[in-house]
Amino acid sequence: MDIYVLARYPFLSEAKEVVRRENVRTEEILHDPIYERARDIGRQRVTDALEEGVVGGYPVASETDALMNIFSYPIARMIVASVGHPYFRGRYALAEAKRAYEFLQGESRDFLLQVARELEVAVDDDLRLHFADYLRHAPTRSQRWKLVNMPLSQGWLSLDHRELARVLQNAIQHRLFEELRDMRPPSEISNVFREEVTAIRNTLQQREMREKAEMGEASVAKLPPCMRMLLAAIQTGANVPHVGRFTLVSFLNAIGMDTEEILGLFAASPDFDRERTRYQIEHITGKVSGTDYTPPSCASIKTWGLCPTDKMDAICRRVNHPLSYYRIKGRRRK
Ligand code: SF4
Repeated sequence: MDIYVLARYPFLSEAKEVVRRENVRTEEILHDPIYERARDIGRQRVTDALEEGVVGGYPVASETDALMNIFSYPIARMIVASVGHPYFRGRYALAEAKRAYEFLQGESRDFLLQVARELEVAVDDDLRLHFADYLRHAPTRSQRWKLVNMPLSQGWLSLDHRELARVLQNAIQHRLFEELRDMRPPSEISNVFREEVTAIRNTLQQREMREKAEMGEASVAKLPPCMRMLLAAIQTGANVPHVGRFTLVSFLNAIGMDTEEILGLFAASPDFDRERTRYQIEHITGKVSGTDYTPPSCASIKTWGLCPTDKMDAICRRVNHPLSYYRIKGRRRK
C-alpha cells in the first residue's frame, strides 16, 4: 500500500509497520523538532475528535506530509490514553472510524476486503457478510439495518459497497476502542502534552457538570410513562425484550444514574442476576463496549411498541424525546 493511502488509514498494520521501520524512539517522537508537525497533527486529531466528533482533513501534499500524518496517529492515541476517560476513548475511536468510512466508500472492493480481513470481519468475494459479524458490527438499531430487513441466505447477508464500508466503520471503532482500553502510555506523554490532557479533562468535566445540572438530581419520580412501564416490568420479572432493557438503561444512564444505582433499581426483579445485569448495563453505558449509547427518541420507542399510549400525559404530547419529558417534569417539580 502506498504511503498516501496509509496516511488515510493510520491504524492499519501496514501503517504501524511504517512507523516501526522508521526505527524512531518514543523520546524522538515526543521531543525531536523533525516530528513537530506529527505532534501538531496528533494534537489536532484529538481536538477534532472532542469538538467535531470526526478527525481528518489534514493536508497531505507530499510523502513527508503523509509520513507525519501516519506518525500523528500513535501520538494522538497516547494523548487519548493519558486522558484516561472511557467516554473520550469511545469518542476518539468513533471519530477515527467516521473518517475512515468517508474514505472507504471511494475505495475498491479489493481494498475493502483487505481491511475486512485485517479486522477479522468475515466477508466473501461477493461482499456477503457472515451474520455473526453483522450482528457484531452493523448499526442494527436503525430500522433499515434490522436483520429482518436484510437478504439473509444460509447465514450470509449480501451487502453493497457502501453498506460494507459502514459495517467496517463500526468494526474499526470497536478495534480502536479495545486497543485504547488496553494501552498504557509512557509517563512522559503527560509531561509533553500536559496542557492538552488537562484541557480535555476540564472540558469533559465541565460537560458532565453541565449535563448533571440540566438534569437535576436523578429521580424515578420524574420518569416518563414509557420508562416507568419498563422499570415496573423489569422489577416484577415480566419478559422485557432486549430493546426495552437498552432503552431503559441508556435513559437511566443519561439522567445521571451510575451502574450501582441502576443495579439497585433492577434488584427487585425476582430473577435478578447481579453480574449478568452489571455486564449488560456496562455494555450499554460504554464501560465495556466503548460506545455510550444515547437513549432512543419517542419515535423509535413507539415503533418498538414500548410507548404506553393510554398513559401518555400532557408533557408527552409536547416532546419528541423522553429526556425532554424528564427535564420539563423536573422544572415543574421545582
Ligand atoms: S410519548 Fe415519548 S416520553 Fe411519553 S411515554 Fe411515549 S415514548 Fe415515553
